Amino acid sequence: MRIASIIDVSTVDVPGIPVTVLFTAGCNFDCPYCQNAQIIPLSSGSEMPIEVIVGKTCGSLSSGLCVSGGEPTIHRDLPELLGELKRVRGGHINLNTQGSVPEVLEESLPYIDSVWFDIKAAPDRYSQVARVRENPWNAVHKSIEMVMSSNVAFWPRTTYAADLMSPHDIEGVLHILEEEDFQGEYVLRNFVRSLGTRRSEDSNLRAAKREEVEPLFERLPSGITLKLEGF
Ligand code: SF4
Repeated sequence: MRIASIIDVSTVDVPGIPVTVLFTAGCNFDCPYCQNAQIIPLSSGSEMPIEVIVGKTCGSLSSGLCVSGGEPTIHRDLPELLGELKRVRGGHINLNTQGSVPEVLEESLPYIDSVWFDIKAAPDRYSQVARVRENPWNAVHKSIEMVMSSNVAFWPRTTYAADLMSPHDIEGVLHILEEEDFQGEYVLRNFVRSLGTRRSEDSNLRAAKREEVEPLFERLPSGITLKLEGF
């Protein structure tokens, strides 16, 4: 599997659990606001055998693991890696995914405890926001239903970049969550310009002001709460 980097301990990626963060390299989307744009190319990172990856994540002070990217599920050997990590290392395993490869996600579920599920937009806007030729919504939808019907905790979230998106897009996501009978917290993260974002995207994106998204609180479906991050 191609690995971009490993962070020994993070206290912000999984609520209440210090985790080691493993960044897989490569992604099949091309979101303009990507915070890790340098690892979108499939040729980024370095190829590493599974036993080496497991060895590098053992011995750290964290009590859990977060597998992020890039998009981890584009790697066919992700379930094998997760199985080894669960067997050798144990503890809470969290996966970050945008859900476009349900076959690999399905095989991964027995080894993970929680999923941060990046829902990019309402179904009709997926191709534009993820910048892919074919709309991946059917695959993403299948993944959402799969995680929600499993024992794995489903944590939905969306990155909000003003000018690219509008509150109407988020209402579309909330509508999907309502249709799926989701009950719980939905996280909306404001776009942040960082070292990992591309300078070539600067003129197309901006962080939103809190008042732009606050009306969403009045339109929340029953049983769903909204957490704003970075607004
Ligand atoms: S899905 Fe995630 S890693 Fe891939 S391009 Fe979008 S933000 Fe970046």
